[in-house]
Amino acid sequence: MKAMVLERPDRIENNPLKLKQVLKPIPFEREIRVKITSCGICRTDLHIIEGELVPHKLPIIPGHQIVGYVELLGKSVTKFRVGDYVGIPWLYKTCGVCKYCKEGRENLCDNALFTGYDVDGGYAEYVVVNENFLYHLPQTYKDIEIAPLLCGGTIGYYAFKSVDSEVNNKIGFFGFGSSAHITLQIARHIGKEVYVVARKERDFELAYELGATWAGKLEALNSQLDSAIVFAPSGEMIVSALEHIRKGGKVVSAGIFATPLPSFDYFHIYPEKTLTSIANVTRDIVKEFLEIANSMKIKTQVTEYELSQANLALSNIKHSKVSGSSVIKI
Ligand SMILES: [Zn+2]
Ligand SMILES: [Zn+2]
Repeated sequence: MKAMVLERPDRIENNPLKLKQVLKPIPFEREIRVKITSCGICRTDLHIIEGELVPHKLPIIPGHQIVGYVELLGKSVTKFRVGDYVGIPWLYKTCGVCKYCKEGRENLCDNALFTGYDVDGGYAEYVVVNENFLYHLPQTYKDIEIAPLLCGGTIGYYAFKSVDSEVNNKIGFFGFGSSAHITLQIARHIGKEVYVVARKERDFELAYELGATWAGKLEALNSQLDSAIVFAPSGEMIVSALEHIRKGGKVVSAGIFATPLPSFDYFHIYPEKTLTSIANVTRDIVKEFLEIANSMKIKTQVTEYELSQANLALSNIKHSKVSGSSVIKI
């Protein structure tokens, strides 16, 4: 099969992903082979490819917002049939026995494996996954439209749940990419005011189109917020978000990676301000979000690429040349 393979982390401008012919993976026991039709691109892919995240497996096929059809079943599979419309997110497998799995917080599993990081992912024609970590997708969405919901959407939803409360009505979004443009629709659906900090005019326009109360550059933000989600992988943005929330407010960083936080004085967290991050999502959150997205009719604005254009797609994300989500059509 064809796949975009990373042999060695490098700057995306050097085109580190190479189009190769590799062996089709074989499903064993409870595994399923999925014929991929599209794979959403996540900023995490860029952190893996450029080596900001320590490599777990090389060579690796990145990609963890995978949409396709069940093509081949391992002999013990019971939950899926050939032809089912399915999705595969970031959380590829958990151990089920560690402290976190037992507490119902499998997103923090000590032995978790991640798609496109520990095991080969979706920048390819086929992928294999355990049936317990595969999801039925609603037919109401086209493959390229639903792919960005599988990570960007679910992680944004999880971050939003973390700041959502009756006393938090003015929510700041710091950074406005794939995840944020989906999360904005959830926040608006339940009547929250959203203040979007971004860099490009194009992003302000999309934010207003989706119902933002305000969108603009950081220097122009002069509203006090109840809480904030930081989508940008930037320690400086996290500190800026703390500066803009009220007493008792909360800042959640939604990324898997951020640049170092500049030192900040105590009044950034006093009185009673909270700073936290979120990491991965449980299977229950993925299922809950997919249902909510379908019922809220959440839409994604998608830029489509061919498999061989994965380096270009990632470079465009890195350099803020596109708004909304980017998806590889296989
Ligand atoms: Zn575990
Ligand atoms: Zn992701």
